[in-house]
Amino acid sequence: MPDKVQRVKGVNDILPNEARQWQALERIIQDVMQRYAYGEIRPPIFEKTELFARGVGEDTDIVSKEMYSLTDMSKTSLTLRPELTAGVVRSYIQNNLQQISPVQKLWYEGPMFRQERPQKGRYRQFWQFGAEAIGSPHPEQDVEMIALFQAILDELGIAGSVTLKINSVGDSESRATYRSALQDYLRPHLNELSETSQIRFESNPLRILDSKDPRDKELVKDAPKIRECLNEASANHYEQVLKMLDIMDISYVQDDLLVRGLDYYTHTIFEFTSDALGAQDAICGGGRYNDLVHELGGKEVPAIGWASGIERLLLVVETISPLNASPELDLFLIVLGDDLRTQAPQLIRDWRIAGLSCDSDSLRRSMKAQMREANRQGAKFVAILGEDEFAMGVVQLKNFESGEQESVAFNQVVGTINDSI
Ligand code: ATP
Ligand code: MG
Repeated sequence: MPDKVQRVKGVNDILPNEARQWQALERIIQDVMQRYAYGEIRPPIFEKTELFARGVGEDTDIVSKEMYSLTDMSKTSLTLRPELTAGVVRSYIQNNLQQISPVQKLWYEGPMFRQERPQKGRYRQFWQFGAEAIGSPHPEQDVEMIALFQAILDELGIAGSVTLKINSVGDSESRATYRSALQDYLRPHLNELSETSQIRFESNPLRILDSKDPRDKELVKDAPKIRECLNEASANHYEQVLKMLDIMDISYVQDDLLVRGLDYYTHTIFEFTSDALGAQDAICGGGRYNDLVHELGGKEVPAIGWASGIERLLLVVETISPLNASPELDLFLIVLGDDLRTQAPQLIRDWRIAGLSCDSDSLRRSMKAQMREANRQGAKFVAILGEDEFAMGVVQLKNFESGEQESVAFNQVVGTINDSI
């Protein structure tokens, strides 16, 4: 026998049973996005590598070690998107979306690709949905962004197991002040830091704050806090965000060590984590990125967004509040005798056109086997068609739940079923 081809390490097959959960989640996402007036955008799965190098930052984990890149026939370096903010901003600039409206509120969903060590909740192809609001510099936009994800958690019934962590990295002036303060604090301990953090001490000292290395963690505990280095405008922005969250009764925890791994953040940054997960506990991360549109060749347009990992979110949903996504088959047609098989496709086609979800056996099996299949599919009704029934233009319609059975004319089947569901 030829060898079986196996799937690539760190990617998943989403099978129909699981896909029903995904669809239930997707319906909630679409509904909430609609209510918050966000429009869907579907950028391409791959982009020029340059976009991520410039947009996400050369020094980030994503760009320095996680990207799937390839060279195409014209020797252009392309990369499977590891995240979608850069792609959305590229699309916003290229399609002149600011001309349509000065604030563009966009959402997306799709697969992302990162070459990291696969483990529970961490895959090489994983799905994200996310939102970006491009155009407004004001704190009410930050708050709407956070409320938007909170609304999805509420719809899913899992808000109770999720914590919102928030911090501000301020504008570039505030970050420069903080950078020096942090370096001054760490300098005497430089050789006690992990190797990675020693390198980052010059290139990106803020990243030392979210290092997982125990040596770094120990030192960082007493480091100066970024919110103490915010200039007046940045402090004011952050204060207003917190005030509005209070007014809206959205609870949060201020996390002085939250910096997020990407280069483009300014001002508000946040993460939603769940205690229903293990080590990979972040289900959503985001923040404001006021300089990115300009850095990618657009005008100076402020923006804010977040992205959430669907596999991780569904792990939480599964443990806390499973979605009701049982299969829904209204009717299974059971055909007795091969002579009637020619009639079956036409009958069920008409019932399907009328809106019922219908199936029938395509293996020409016995009545018993057909009945078992109807059961397996969770059919609410079975319609039995034998020679006598066909001659009279009826089926024996059996309600699986109540056990009731009656003779119903072909053209009454849909009405009878609709009346009883
Ligand atoms: P982490 O700290 O877990 O590595 P991250 O900061 O790299 O997350 P982001 O780039 O902010 O994550 O992506 C947003 C969300 O996407 C995360 O909160 C998480 O839910 C999900 N996510 C990120 N990487 C993966 C992955 N490899 N597999 C599954 N989900 C992921
Ligand atoms: Mg990561």
